[in-house]
Amino acid sequence: MSVETYEVDYLIIGAGAMGMAFADTILTESDKTVLIVDMHHRPGGHWNDAYPFVTLHQPSAYYGVSSKELSKGRKDETGLNKGLQDLATGPEIMAYFDEVMRYQFLPTGRVTYLSMCKYEGEGKISALMSDKTYQVKVREKTVDATWLKTTVPSTHTPSFEIAEGVKLIPLNDLPKVTQQPSNYVVVGGGKTGIDAVIWLLENHVDPDMIRWVRPRDAWLMDRANTQPSDEFFMATMGAQAAQMQAIAESESVTDLFDRLEASGVFVRIDKSIRPQMMHGATISQAELEELRRVKDVIRMGRIKRIGLDEIILDEGALNTTPDTLYVDCSACAVGNMEERPIFEGDTLYLQTVRVVQPVFSAAFIAHIDLTRDNDEEKNRLCQIVPLPNHDTDWLRMQAAFMMNQYTWSQEKDLRDWTLNNRLDGYSRMVANVKPEETEKVALLKSMRANSMAAVLKLQNYIAELA
Ligand SMILES: Cc1cc2nc3c(=O)[nH]c(=O)nc-3n(C[C@H](O)[C@H](O)[C@H](O)COP(=O)(O)OP(=O)(O)OC[C@H]3O[C@@H](n4cnc5c(N)ncnc54)[C@H](O)[C@@H]3O)c2cc1C
Repeated sequence: MSVETYEVDYLIIGAGAMGMAFADTILTESDKTVLIVDMHHRPGGHWNDAYPFVTLHQPSAYYGVSSKELSKGRKDETGLNKGLQDLATGPEIMAYFDEVMRYQFLPTGRVTYLSMCKYEGEGKISALMSDKTYQVKVREKTVDATWLKTTVPSTHTPSFEIAEGVKLIPLNDLPKVTQQPSNYVVVGGGKTGIDAVIWLLENHVDPDMIRWVRPRDAWLMDRANTQPSDEFFMATMGAQAAQMQAIAESESVTDLFDRLEASGVFVRIDKSIRPQMMHGATISQAELEELRRVKDVIRMGRIKRIGLDEIILDEGALNTTPDTLYVDCSACAVGNMEERPIFEGDTLYLQTVRVVQPVFSAAFIAHIDLTRDNDEEKNRLCQIVPLPNHDTDWLRMQAAFMMNQYTWSQEKDLRDWTLNNRLDGYSRMVANVKPEETEKVALLKSMRANSMAAVLKLQNYIAELA
């Protein structure tokens, strides 16, 4: 069988949010050609497999690709996100990426999109639905937009044993439940666990019917402090300033987390439990109130086995009943925490260069690839801002973020680029401040005044923990 060949400037593996944001910047800022390959039948990556009631947890205003707005420019008037900017739903995100591909990318004539195809390495691509294969000759870069290996409940295999007859579903199947179980056990304390509990409560399930297995509690960020518009300046930039002050004035890591909570930057569901996890998820105060209604929280480590009458966990066993319904929310969104340089010769590994901002990061990396000359310089400007898992990972993430912000601020073209990029949530808010707005000016001044002390403090804490 003959092998079809392509020759392109960039081969992008993965049409998820990061691959799409990368491609968008290449297409907007150059005349290069791009081939995008993905195993899904539509662009959008893991959103293809998401649960039906998923939404973004950060405002739509800074998600997607740079060249097309995702937000509807409105605030929610009802529900648990009331008063805050809109959060796109899964179907909205899918429709958005489909439009970007069909109406922006493909009409340029510079994009080849191979859906339902697998990249095998060495430029070889195989179709999933036939034995067709393709060979790609790459003139410039192969872009690995799969490095972070995002995993979601519907596509992962639980790491615990499940006895025959136990009813366990991914949260994707919750809306399909037709028979009321004796009770629900939500497995997982991360963002999907939170979404499952809220969905059950919103759908008339009594909180006493919910048992929540939370091996670790999480530090969360108040979503009210992540709103990228002038109206929210004092909350959003106020939280940034409070964070800087908390770091600079803290006397230990524990004291730092206490200060971050006291100033409203961090929140937690249960104030009597010290969180050990930090994934960068945001939450509203109304959502927190809802979650606190569930009292049967199991903190006995991870589940090892679910039987019909017993749940075995790391730290003991619990009685259960055969007609309990288990909701699997145990997938860890980021499947690969390993870091490697982003620019490595003719291959580029997309990772985050700003605090939990994957799409901004992908767009920024594309811009750097187009405008800088060698890998050393490109990697200097694209230091990895690691995605956090444990609470103390926040220190390294924050330090790396602050160093990148400082490095970029020294280069005028990068200051201009971030200011004009819609995926940058906050730069415009800061640039819009007028000298007569004294309260805002004072807040920014305090933030800058604390920044050097904050970086040094973070570096000390990181060294102590090493
Ligand atoms: C429920 C949920 C909510 C989230 N909310 C937000 C939010 O509000 N804001 C935010 O910034 N981030 C959010 N995130 C983070 C999210 O992971 C990123 O925004 C982003 O969607 C990740 O995209 P990605 O392109 O890195 O990965 P993916 O979406 O996983 O895309 C990778 C793609 O690569 C393809 N692929 C893999 N291997 C191959 C191969 N060999 N050949 C061909 N194709 C391949 C896969 O099929 C997949 O489509 C959320 C994540 C989850 C799970």
